[in-house]
This record gives sequence, structure tokens and C-alpha cells, in this order.
Amino acid sequence: MGGEVLDTAALISWPINRLNGCYAMPSQKNELFNVNPEEEIKIDSAQIMWMIPDDKSMEIATNIAISTGDMAGLSEIDLGILALSIDLEKTLVTDDYRLQNLAEKAGIEWMTVTTEGIKQLWTWELKCIACKKIYPQPKKPNLKKSDWGECKECGSKLRLKRIKGNHSDSS
Ligand SMILES: [Zn+2]
Repeated sequence: MGGEVLDTAALISWPINRLNGCYAMPSQKNELFNVNPEEEIKIDSAQIMWMIPDDKSMEIATNIAISTGDMAGLSEIDLGILALSIDLEKTLVTDDYRLQNLAEKAGIEWMTVTTEGIKQLWTWELKCIACKKIYPQPKKPNLKKSDWGECKECGSKLRLKRIKGNHSDSS
């Protein structure tokens, strides 16, 4: 074991000896130190490879996230660590079901930090809660988590809805 790409939950949960040799992005380090400054000594003591994904992997990750409808629910770090896993061809460690879904789609191994993980692949659509109009996925991660704005037709809120009856590509 070792050499996985870690999400921020794994950076917090795992002991130093398990973090050694793993990969994460510099932006995660910044985010982590802002939210959990007490983690700084542990993280700095571990031999973590801080890397950013290459452009090609970002493009692959972006296209997959748009195709599954997960993009609207991702942060920049989420998309980045997915791309880093694709870039390095390393296992992605995450409890985020969107990232598990996307890793599965991308054909890369994933494992959970503390939870059980997803059982099947999901697809999502961005939909008005009132008139049910469906909107295209954003091209980039959503900076305002869970706020996708309003329907241009009726002014109601947009929500990410799981597309029902789409089990054709579950493994
Ligand atoms: Zn509407």
C-alpha cells in the first residue's frame, strides 16, 4: 500500500506513517491549515508529495464530470484530486460519493477513508424544482457549494437530481 492520492478527509484521518509517499495538492494543504491549523505539524512531518495535475488530466476529469452531471457538485479541489489520480494513475482515497462515482467512470481505483462507499454509478441532472426544466452542467466546479442559481423560466431554485432508472452502467 501507499502512493495513493488523498482527499482532505484522508489527510486529517490518517496517521503519519500512512501518509508517507502519498500525493495531494498544495491547495489542499492551504485549505487544511486554514480550517485545522492543529494538523499542521502532522502534515508537515509526513512525506507527502504535493503536486498539481497536468492540463490533459484536468481536461479528462472535466469532461467526465460534465458527462455524469457531477460537475455542479464539485469543488476545485475535488476536480483537482480526481485529475491528479488520472494523471498519476494512482488510487484515489475519498469518502465523497461524487468523487467515487467519477473515479469509477474514469477507470481508476478508489478507496474510502471511513465510509463504505458507493454501490453503483450515478448520473445527475441540474433541474428546476418547480417547472422541471433541465439546465446544462457548468463547465467548471461550483464555487458556491450547492447553490446553482435560479431557473431562467420561472425563477425557482435549481437542484442536482439523480437521474432515476439509469443502472445500465453499474458494475
Ligand atoms: Zn423553473
